[in-house]
Amino acid sequence: MTWHTGRAMALSSSAAPSVPARPLPLVAAPRPRPPRHLADLTTAQRRELAVSLGEPAFRADQVARHYFARYLRAGDAEAMTDLPAASRPVLLDALLPALLTPAKVMTCDAGATHKTLWRAFDGVLIESVLMRYPDRATVCVSSQAGCGMGCPFCATGQGGLTRNLSAAEIVEQVVAAAGAAARGELAGGPARLSNVVFMGMGEPLANYATVVAALRALTAPQPEGLGLSARSVTVSTVGLVPAIRRLTGAGLPVTLAVSLHAPDDELRDSLVPVNRRWPVAEVLAAAWEYAETTGRRVSVEYALIDDVNDQPERADALAGLLAGRLVHVNLIPLNPTRGVSWQASERRREREFVRRLRLRGIATTVRDTRGRDIAAACGQLAADAPTGPDTDRPDRSARADR
Ligand code: SF4
Repeated sequence: MTWHTGRAMALSSSAAPSVPARPLPLVAAPRPRPPRHLADLTTAQRRELAVSLGEPAFRADQVARHYFARYLRAGDAEAMTDLPAASRPVLLDALLPALLTPAKVMTCDAGATHKTLWRAFDGVLIESVLMRYPDRATVCVSSQAGCGMGCPFCATGQGGLTRNLSAAEIVEQVVAAAGAAARGELAGGPARLSNVVFMGMGEPLANYATVVAALRALTAPQPEGLGLSARSVTVSTVGLVPAIRRLTGAGLPVTLAVSLHAPDDELRDSLVPVNRRWPVAEVLAAAWEYAETTGRRVSVEYALIDDVNDQPERADALAGLLAGRLVHVNLIPLNPTRGVSWQASERRREREFVRRLRLRGIATTVRDTRGRDIAAACGQLAADAPTGPDTDRPDRSARADR
């Protein structure tokens, strides 16, 4: 889930933008399913599958090790020399089918940021962004193709939901990033992928069961899974309260990020239409339950849009909601997008917003924006990509970094 600036609007500093109500399709229409992949299966299911193919069960573990520990994917069969040559094709067809093919890769920030536009088996386009920081390497992944949440500042939202990604399609983005980092493809040499953020295309909690399956694959110890710490995985949501509650009980202490973008229902109803169903107070109540149950600090994401939601009184209102809570505020300067009139807040307004939050003791940072010169705000590459005859209408988003 990201946030985008999909169309121009006439806004005043005090008035909420007038946005026509539109239905919120929370469920994707039925479509052909992505190929089954070992990342969709439990260890027991992988072994059963190997046996059903006439192979010993441990062959499934070998394939899983290649995938999760060596980051080998479809097309890397020659490197899996411990698999008998005769068994390799059948095992790999069943367990490691090709899921995502890079359609475009762009780099910027002196090689520290790589953005990949992926084409899925059915032509759907999604994006992931791999970013190296001094202390970590992070990949931002998509959980859906398109999005049904309809946020008016987000072109993805205007395009609607194409389909949910499978667990393996989500995991594949992470494994590909881990492989690229390990092979030294990012500036600075080989690195270990340490963090995953679900802030690419889509609303992760609208694809709840699949996202949880992906989280389990990402955090299971190698070679059963990728072995990432749940604490280094962040799941972002616009505030699907029942799903936040389910996640609270899932026993996965990932970091929860709530994209608030406004402290008041009047403005948030317009910026994040799902607020009409679950208003600010309900979203934050669910977030505090999450923090209390998991002991994890909640991240509140707040896109600073010039003269829309960055007024001093909104900073104070936000501070009033968050003071004394286990929370961190992440302010995100709008990543400017072609054809979009909304702008990032002026620096002095941004500084004042930060000052007012910190004055109330609220940990606040301003997000480092990456990849402005390669349209690295999630969705921009897909928006620019041509559609072929077998290609679904791409996600037309224009997101800001989150
Ligand atoms: S429409 Fe979807 S992707 Fe866009 S900001 Fe809203 S939740 Fe995020």
